[in-house]
Amino acid sequence: MKAEDEKYCVECGQAIHVKAEVCPFCGVRQPIFYANQPFQQQNRSLQDDRWLPALLFCVFLGSFGAHRFYLGQIGTAVIQLVTLGGCGIWWLIDLIMIVVGKYKDADGQYIKSPINNN
Ligand SMILES: [Zn+2]
Repeated sequence: MKAEDEKYCVECGQAIHVKAEVCPFCGVRQPIFYANQPFQQQNRSLQDDRWLPALLFCVFLGSFGAHRFYLGQIGTAVIQLVTLGGCGIWWLIDLIMIVVGKYKDADGQYIKSPINNN
């Protein structure tokens, strides 16, 4: 049974302290999402831990290309910075893409969204 102050490790499924960042049983770092959901559910919906920072960067500093700098897309980040987020339009498109999980990082990997988990 899982106590109130415990969660399940995403890797080995052991009950660990809810605030534990690293599992003491297997040493795997825990994601920030789904901290209190059962093990099987966690595995099915495991998220990209870059999604929330990328979203926040985009919301608050998106017109300066902050999310692109964060995701390693320096080239387009500089262009976005100079054009102030493509006059807001480019910024808006990026924001929507991040929210729905269709945004790709510098390596072409999707930044998976917990909202639309395809
Ligand atoms: Zn573990």
